[in-house]
Amino acid sequence: MKALDELTFDNRFARLGDGFSTHVLPEPIDEPRLVVASKAAMALLDLDPAVAQTPVFAELFSGHKLWAEAEPRAMVYSGHQFGSYNPQLGDGRGLLLGEVYNEAGEHWDLHLKGAGQTPYSRMGDGRAVLRSSIREFLASEALHALGIPSSRALCVIGSSTPVWREKQERAAMVLRLAPSHIRFGHFEYFYYTKKPEQQKQLAEHVLKLHFPECQEQPEPYLAMFHEIVERNAELIAKWQAYGFCHGVMNTDNMSILGITFDFGPFAFLDDFDAQFICNHSDDQGRYSFSNQVPIGQWNLSALAQALTPFISVEALRETLGLYLPLYQAHYLDLMRRRLGFTTAEEDDQKLVERLLQLMQGSGVDYTLFLRRLGDESAVLAVTRLRDDFVDIKAFDAWAELYKARVERDANGSEEQRRERMHAVNPLYILRNYLAENAITAAESGDYNEVRRLHEVLSKPFEEQPGMEQYAQRPPDWGKHLEISCSS
Ligand code: AMP
Ligand code: MG
Repeated sequence: MKALDELTFDNRFARLGDGFSTHVLPEPIDEPRLVVASKAAMALLDLDPAVAQTPVFAELFSGHKLWAEAEPRAMVYSGHQFGSYNPQLGDGRGLLLGEVYNEAGEHWDLHLKGAGQTPYSRMGDGRAVLRSSIREFLASEALHALGIPSSRALCVIGSSTPVWREKQERAAMVLRLAPSHIRFGHFEYFYYTKKPEQQKQLAEHVLKLHFPECQEQPEPYLAMFHEIVERNAELIAKWQAYGFCHGVMNTDNMSILGITFDFGPFAFLDDFDAQFICNHSDDQGRYSFSNQVPIGQWNLSALAQALTPFISVEALRETLGLYLPLYQAHYLDLMRRRLGFTTAEEDDQKLVERLLQLMQGSGVDYTLFLRRLGDESAVLAVTRLRDDFVDIKAFDAWAELYKARVERDANGSEEQRRERMHAVNPLYILRNYLAENAITAAESGDYNEVRRLHEVLSKPFEEQPGMEQYAQRPPDWGKHLEISCSS
């Protein structure tokens, strides 16, 4: 276990030089206070959880103090936002403080979001509000607990510093951890600004640090692109299987590691709705729930374009062609497990699709339906769940197929089936209304609800006595919360 001053830095991105990032010092926020910290994320840095309670913890993650070995940098990148190319983005309000490695030899970027203005702030104030910082913290840690790759969050530090959004709010900072903060948009930046040498340097850096096994391949860059395609296909399959809507899948928000990254107006589905749009600025529904699948491919092709100096167009095309089949295989595998199957049958895809069609428009809670399907025998479960469907007859027809499918699967006892299903079907997810309750309390200075919700979501598959209210469907006010894009 380490104290805060015992972290070991190795700032490899900073060493790429000034063409890649700019040295900027964090601008502190006033009267810093700990809102919430993640013990699990602290463990990634070998940090003793007790240090979160010390004043220096809040000072370090609110810009008041800095390790001597930290080299705070604002990264430059560009990207496609809602389909249009934006030539200069970059860290407008976040700084890469440095890279730390733990005793296991893992490297973690420390990124302080809300750390003040940078050369890439454009018209922005460089700040993040408490509301969005709490949402990012909760989502990062909740996704991880669900087994969905994500950047992590160490803590949120609140303050008395006023910031202006639609109304006056308070500034906060969130300390994000990820093995890398390199985005698709990093490659796009060097490609479109025609800086081949730096682009090569970036590609070498990514290959060496993050895809070392690809270096052994006959075409290392192609192997790396292949790996990025695979990881993204798997990530998006997990989003779709668990009802997670990212909200702003711009290429500057896509990680080369295939982890969920840069949280904005995300949401988990309550009622199943394939057309759900969680970002209320997304008028066209470009990033609607079901569009995440083709958008994943669109984003990968934007990355492929930026890799044309290194890889032939034919090879890139061929590799891109793997995305959809890989996605489908992962998705189907996850859905089979969620439905309790241990084997694969030809018609499983149809069974899944039909179920989702029946849920659509029926107002069926996606997460709870699947959880309850594993509560008892298939026969009893479908009998209990049928009343939730608008077209009960159609549901009954599906239920007959499902029961027969479970019968054919017949792997182990009822009890084993229940355990197997509960291990992949969460009871607790980060519903918007739960986040909203925690944020409302935090905005009035009470952080207990954020902390409790974080705890509950860290064990999403386990029934937690006394926490039943966190597994409830949203009340009427919480059904159609409009999550603002401003953060
Ligand atoms: P995001 O929507 O958070 O992914 O941000 C898109 C771009 O806008 C990135 O370059 C951000 O750094 C920048 N940005 C977002 N909010 C602010 C802000 N309040 N101040 C400065 N830059 C910002
Ligand atoms: Mg972003």
